[in-house]
Amino acid sequence: MPVGPLVVQVAQLRRRSGSTSRLHTSAPLDQVLLTPASAADSRVPEGAPADCDFVLESYDGGVMVTGRVRAPWSGVCRRCTAPVGGEVDIALKERYCDPPARGEPEDEEAYPIEGDAVDLAPLVHEAILAELPLAPLCREDCLGLCPQCGADRNHETCSCVAPRDPRWASLDVLRSSS
Ligand SMILES: [Zn+2]
Ligand SMILES: [Zn+2]
Repeated sequence: MPVGPLVVQVAQLRRRSGSTSRLHTSAPLDQVLLTPASAADSRVPEGAPADCDFVLESYDGGVMVTGRVRAPWSGVCRRCTAPVGGEVDIALKERYCDPPARGEPEDEEAYPIEGDAVDLAPLVHEAILAELPLAPLCREDCLGLCPQCGADRNHETCSCVAPRDPRWASLDVLRSSS
């Protein structure tokens, strides 16, 4: 039987199709669930909670979960390495279904109802993982660091000259011999 702040007992809800219940909670996130699958350069800070606001509605065969998840994220700007952060704000609509009867195909689009409970934690973690910025910027027009001296070009100007593209060097030879 799953346990945790995002586990909801749905036996009562499922007694009558079309019944609804609401879950509004601030749940701590599991870093283990968030980290390994993430290709993002940003992450949810350790210990930061996700604000979850869900409506569960029973239907014949399962429970529909609609709602919203919000969580903070932090990372570094991909151009200038300044710390950046923000909030993911995700609208969700997912189904939880009974496990398939013997011989029936599994509904791969749905999350499982385990016993009389639904565990919203996998739903929340997967949604946040998918939404974390891949390569965040401190601002759209961040000027980045000088590749030669490392100066932050948002705050200072340096006198470095961009190296010449070696593909033009042979043209220079032609030019000077004419
Ligand atoms: Zn930047
Ligand atoms: Zn420079």
